[in-house]
Formats: sequence, C-alpha cells, structure tokens
Amino acid sequence: MSNLPIACGKDVLLGKSRSDLEQWVALRGEEPFRGRQLHQWLYTKGVKTLDEITVLPKTLRSTLDKSGVEIGRLEEAKRVVALDLTTKLLLETSDGEKIETVGIPSEHRLTVCVSSQVGCSMACRFCATGKEGLTRSLEVNEIVDQVLSVREAMNRRPSHIVFMGMGEPLLNIYAVLNAIRCFNEDLGISQRRITVSTVGVANTLPKLGELAMRHLGRVQFTLAVSLHAPNQKLREFLVPTAKAYPLELLLEDCRHYLDITGRRVSFEYVLLGGVNDLPEHAEELSLRVSGFQSHVNLIAYNPIDEEDFNRPSQRRINAFRNVLEQKGIAVSLRASRGLDQNAACGQLRRNHQPN
Ligand code: SAH
Repeated sequence: MSNLPIACGKDVLLGKSRSDLEQWVALRGEEPFRGRQLHQWLYTKGVKTLDEITVLPKTLRSTLDKSGVEIGRLEEAKRVVALDLTTKLLLETSDGEKIETVGIPSEHRLTVCVSSQVGCSMACRFCATGKEGLTRSLEVNEIVDQVLSVREAMNRRPSHIVFMGMGEPLLNIYAVLNAIRCFNEDLGISQRRITVSTVGVANTLPKLGELAMRHLGRVQFTLAVSLHAPNQKLREFLVPTAKAYPLELLLEDCRHYLDITGRRVSFEYVLLGGVNDLPEHAEELSLRVSGFQSHVNLIAYNPIDEEDFNRPSQRRINAFRNVLEQKGIAVSLRASRGLDQNAACGQLRRNHQPN
C-alpha cells in the first residue's frame, strides 16, 4: 500500500506508518526494530516527547532531538466537559494556532469529531467556524493528535471518527487520507467507522474516491455531504460556495462516488426554523435524494452569536422527518450532545480568542 506524501517541512513522527518508521530509522543507521519500538510508543503509549521513549538509548534520543526531530503532539489549551460527558478540547499547534476536537461518548461508542483545518474558507452562513475565514490546513500529525488527545482526556479508546470539526476536509485531502490510513492501521479503527463530511468542493469528489482507492487500497469510510437545502436557490443562501458548484452537479458527483466505492452517501441537513424546515422542503428533498443509495441525517441548528436563525421545535423536526420517511428515505436525527457547553462547532475557539 503506497503512502501519500507527508507534506511537512519538519521531521515529525506522528502520522508515519510502521514501515515508514522502519525505513526512517534505517536511514539513520539503526535496526528496523527501533522503528517498531517508535511505532508502539507513538501510538500505543501516546508519548509526547522523545525523552519519554525510554526504550531508545539516551544517546539516540538526544541525537534525534538535536537534529530537530519532533513527535508532533499538540498542547491542550482548554478542556470543557458537558453534563453528558461530551468533552471538548481546545488544542494548540506548535505555531500557536487553536483547533477544536470533541469526544462524544455513548454506551458502546466513543466518537471523536476531528478538525481538518484551522478555521474554514467555506463561510456557511450558520457555522461559527466560517466566520473567521481560513488560517491554514492541518498537517497529518495535527489531525492524528486529536484522537490521541481525546483518548487521554477521556481515558477510553475512540471507536469512531467523524471529520465534522473545523474546516473543509476536501480542501486538505492528502492530510485527511494520511490520517485515515493512520487511524486505520496504527490505531486500529476500521475505515467503516470513519466519516468524512464535506459541503462539496467542485472537482474534488471523484478525486477523493480515486485517491482513496489508490492510497488506502479500498474505500470503506462514509462520505457525508452537507446538503442543507433541497434546491439551488436556498442552498446558495445558506452555503455561498454552492454558487460555484451547482446542486445538480454535486448530486451527480455523489452518484459517481457511490459507483466507484459502492458506499452509500449520507446527506447532512441542518434544520433552521422557518428557513429550510417546512414540509415542502422535505418533499423537495425526498425527490432530490430518492433513487440512489443514501441516508439523510437531520441536525437541529445549534444557535451561534453572529446569526439570527432559530432552532426548530421538536414538532417541526418530527414533521420534517415523517415526510421523508413516508417517501421511503432512510433518515436519522442527530442527537444534540453537550448543548450546555458551546456545542456548535467553532464556538469554543471563538470564545477563547483574546479579542
Ligand atoms: N466542512 C465540512 C465539515 C465541517 S462542518 C462540512 O461542511 O460538512 C460539520 C457539520 O456540522 C456540517 O454538517 C455542518 O453543516 C454542521 N454545522 C455547522 N454549524 C452548525 C450549527 N451551528 N448547528 C448545527 N450544525 C452545524
């Protein structure tokens, strides 16, 4: 299985596979077993500094340190635990940027919601992250760290991963695919338990399917497409980038993705009271998504400071859901978790900014 280039100027260890590490130590004149040791200490023990890897001779640790090798872990800047134990972490990168990650526990699962970028350029109207634009994409170690950080904070092994934190994963495809490889092979989380959520970026969906097939050997992760509207006009209002990527084309690309991967696509739909939650919107949505293997995931809007949208009542949500079900569409309602603690994506970071 070929590895994607790790786009990283520094020599960062986190994100490298077992065979990468074996080759990496060999280049430094060490035996391959040193690479396997590194692998175990990085991913199983979750070390944060080279010095903690006491299985390596002290001289080797110090040589690596002097040559600028880094583990690539992030610093925890803030932790907020909700009443339902949903745990939000604000993590700081080595260049002082802040990103959010969330651990969402249930009886049988621990789902980690990971960020793929610092900020986001997509500017979806109801999303807190988009309000400040994009700073930069994350490196693979910065994505992988989030899962390790949640594992440590919650003292439990994550079972599922969703790329639904800050950022647009399809604008950082290489790092996202590298991270998926790592979650899968190094942390033992199967691809079937990983979801990549996108609002849609023109010309990237076919590329995602093909690149994933080429580099991961198979594509078994779920693609979630943030649709939010049943027609182009309303979608453009909620998702300004939709102007450059018409709904028809997006749905066509989803069909193509399904053909390549054989995986059913999941459509995310944030319900905004009085905006996109009327029964006629549900009727129109059912026409759009019927006819190919898909699933609609409804999410009640989490209010953000900058916008006046309303969270719809439970009655409205149920009515919307019923229309879809009557039309034979597979539908689920995402439970709101940790609502007492800045639940909407991007809010913890924004509240933490000094100004
Ligand atoms: N850029 C990707 C992934 C990040 S957003 C995407 O758009 O899919 C992850 C999910 O959170 C998306 O479905 C998004 O629409 C949703 N989301 C963002 N802001 C929200 C809010 N205020 N309330 C409810 N869901 C929100």
